[in-house]
Amino acid sequence: MEDVPDSPENEASCLCGNCPSKNDDGLRFYCVRGPSPAPVNRGFCACNWCPLWSGYALTKVFHCAIAEAGDEPAALDEYVID
Ligand code: SF4
Ligand code: SF4
Repeated sequence: MEDVPDSPENEASCLCGNCPSKNDDGLRFYCVRGPSPAPVNRGFCACNWCPLWSGYALTKVFHCAIAEAGDEPAALDEYVID
């Protein structure tokens, strides 16, 4: 896993804006910028569909909700959608 560079091109690739779990904090690009200050209702997370997720070998999802969880973002296999 590599750190995702904070660039306008990478931010434009972020899928958070269309994610059904997205809250109304006005933010996105959480894997780089850090978690949301607002609560997140964890449903579906689009991170593992994001080109940066595969391109930088990310392994976690729900980057927006790290603060809410109080620890690391969730591992993808904890959030398998049936
Ligand atoms: S980090 Fe995941 S759950 Fe949160 S808004 Fe982005 S895609 Fe959705
Ligand atoms: S991995 Fe998730 S938070 Fe990071 S750019 Fe992609 S959709 Fe946004």
